[in-house]
Amino acid sequence: MVGADGLHSRVRALTFGAQERFERYLGIVVAVFDVAGYRPRGELTAVMHADVGFQMLRVSLRDDVTMFCATVRDDGGAPPECPAEQQALLRRRLATAGWETPAILDAMASARTFYFDRASQIRMPSWTRGRVALVGDAAACPSLLAGQGSALAMVETYVLAAEPARANGDHARAFARYEACLGPLLRSKQDAARGLGVAFAPRTRLALAARNTVMRLLGLPHVPDLVMGRSFRDAVELPALPAA
Ligand SMILES: Cc1cc2nc3c(=O)[nH]c(=O)nc-3n(C[C@H](O)[C@H](O)[C@H](O)COP(=O)(O)OP(=O)(O)OC[C@H]3O[C@@H](n4cnc5c(N)ncnc54)[C@H](O)[C@@H]3O)c2cc1C
Repeated sequence: MVGADGLHSRVRALTFGAQERFERYLGIVVAVFDVAGYRPRGELTAVMHADVGFQMLRVSLRDDVTMFCATVRDDGGAPPECPAEQQALLRRRLATAGWETPAILDAMASARTFYFDRASQIRMPSWTRGRVALVGDAAACPSLLAGQGSALAMVETYVLAAEPARANGDHARAFARYEACLGPLLRSKQDAARGLGVAFAPRTRLALAARNTVMRLLGLPHVPDLVMGRSFRDAVELPALPAA
């Protein structure tokens, strides 16, 4: 059985134990919501604004809809479960925030959709037990800070699909190879992502200044490839899928 049920995996909880054992909260909450008719608006444009403790992303979608993504530092206890309390937390944390933030928080009340969660990683010594295996965020969520969770989930799924045939149906051998093939890569992605909180919600003025300088440099030709190119190219040897 494969658990592919995300960061808050029930399969993980039922097979390996409570989420708290494996979840590493990164001190940032994320909210994503979309609003019709928000102004200002730039067609096909994404605008980012960051200040100490948060970043707000505004993305213009089609049909006069605007999507917002707020990443907000919150070192407090467990974030609230219900949308009303989650929105109240955002209003508290962003009460003195400048730029368009007050207007965005007003618009949030009439959001068409609203997503809220902790930015967390899932760190497990092993993602398989008996005949159960986990993939994707259920197994080794790197958090949204990594920006690669979907790609990694697909690679994990590919390897998990290929290994049983190579092991002649011996699931224990296949699971061992699955973990050996991807364990180091996933752990390195998780380690790297932990350092990226500064970009999504800088803690101090100094961190904010460093973030803004890096962001400006990334607008120059060739700089993104030089700085980040290597982190998006991974030399992973994938097993061949069996012939259909
Ligand atoms: C705001 C944000 C931005 C992100 N940006 C990026 C990005 O730019 N690039 C990138 O690569 N990754 C990004 N990620 C991470 C990416 O979304 C995840 O890593 C990826 O979706 C993980 O895929 P998954 O299939 O493992 O889990 P999920 O996409 O979470 O899918 C799990 C599925 O299981 C279902 N499910 C859960 N419980 C049950 C149940 N009991 N019964 C039945 N179904 C169930 C859920 O409904 C869901 O459809 C971002 C994440 C967030 C939160």
